[in-house]
Amino acid sequence: MSRRRVTVLGSTGSIGVSTLDLMRQTGGVEAYQVDALTAGANVVALAEQALAWRPGLAVIADETLKPELDRRLAGSGIETAAGEAAVEAAADVGSEWVMAAIVGAAGLRPAWAAALSGATLALANKESLVCCGPALIDAADRAGGRVIPVDSEHSAIFQVFEADNRAQIERLILTASGGPFRALTHDQMRAATPEQAVAHPNWSMGAKISVDSATMANKGLEMIEAAYLFGVEATRIEVLVHPQSIIHSMVEYADGSTLAQMGPPDMRTPIACALAWPGRVSWPAPKLDLAALGALTFEAPDEVRFPMLALARQALIQGGDAPAIFNAANETAVRAFLDRNIGFLDIADTVAETLDRQVGVEVATAGASRLEQALGADKGARRQASEAIRRRAQAA
Ligand code: NAD
Ligand code: MG
Repeated sequence: MSRRRVTVLGSTGSIGVSTLDLMRQTGGVEAYQVDALTAGANVVALAEQALAWRPGLAVIADETLKPELDRRLAGSGIETAAGEAAVEAAADVGSEWVMAAIVGAAGLRPAWAAALSGATLALANKESLVCCGPALIDAADRAGGRVIPVDSEHSAIFQVFEADNRAQIERLILTASGGPFRALTHDQMRAATPEQAVAHPNWSMGAKISVDSATMANKGLEMIEAAYLFGVEATRIEVLVHPQSIIHSMVEYADGSTLAQMGPPDMRTPIACALAWPGRVSWPAPKLDLAALGALTFEAPDEVRFPMLALARQALIQGGDAPAIFNAANETAVRAFLDRNIGFLDIADTVAETLDRQVGVEVATAGASRLEQALGADKGARRQASEAIRRRAQAA
């Protein structure tokens, strides 16, 4: 049997490592021919992965690290490359399946290139969908590929969404763990440190998405992601806090049925779903023990303590560049928080201020593709958010 050709973008991150682990557990190098692996700056991990998987190409985004990558892969016969354009090129090397697991807006161009390549695009990089909107899905469809969501909530909805009964779907219910600050007061949140914010109770993830879980911006991004993936309007998407993270999301139908997908909080299960779709793959997956769990609990989200939910909904309803602005302002503010330049509550304030100032300021659209348009909005919003952060730092 011929090996399946795959590429993993962002292979050294939390999702990338889980993807390779799952590939190792479902046949390894005998089942998969890895075309390309890419990383941002973790050259040591990238080189180790490359020596284990023998991809045709290993790419490091940080160009200063190219000599080290070359040194570590010397004599291996593995081609190396560096820089943003090389990462983008790695997304389109003829793979059948591409995992898009770069974090943030840095993943936009590579995800777009993978969509245009006609590959099956396993999409973990939610930011690219938030910024480019349904155009990304259309691009994949037109190229003969398709987008399979990897985000656990969207993987859940994807599995219980009856496309033939779309008209009978009343609500998508996105579950949220509530993050590490679910029970904190506003004043306690004001003093929250980056270490506290990245310590998620259920999921082990990269730093950026962990902070997004603490502010619930992650659920906001996921609301936008769900609207675009499933073609459902903002008013039909609800967020439900479910601290155990066992039900990953639900679809409610007009006849009173609500279909849920459940599983332990382990990203390898939604990755496995994307890897095998429309089939299922067997691996030693952790399984649910509901009797041991005893109870699943639910509560309504508190949009006063977590203003990012309302801001994301506002951006989704506003449409146009607003979701890309929301995303860019959030990424900029999260970076500043992780660098200890602003406090935890300043993240939402920065996003609100940037949305206020930036929405309506349309970047040049004439002839621009949806991707270029999104990148333009991203750039403008980053500049605006950085100014807002500077003003805050000066005032403090
Ligand atoms: P991470 O920070 O652990 O890994 C990010 C990967 O991207 C790494 O390989 C890193 O080297 C690479 N990278 C970083 N900056 C880059 C750049 N400028 N250019 C090229 N590559 C770069 O992040 P993660 O937690 O694995 O998340 C990846 C994506 O998946 C994010 O979009 C996140 O929202 C989404 N996601 C993650 C989880 C999770 O459980 N971790 C769940 C759902 C969705
Ligand atoms: Mg998620």
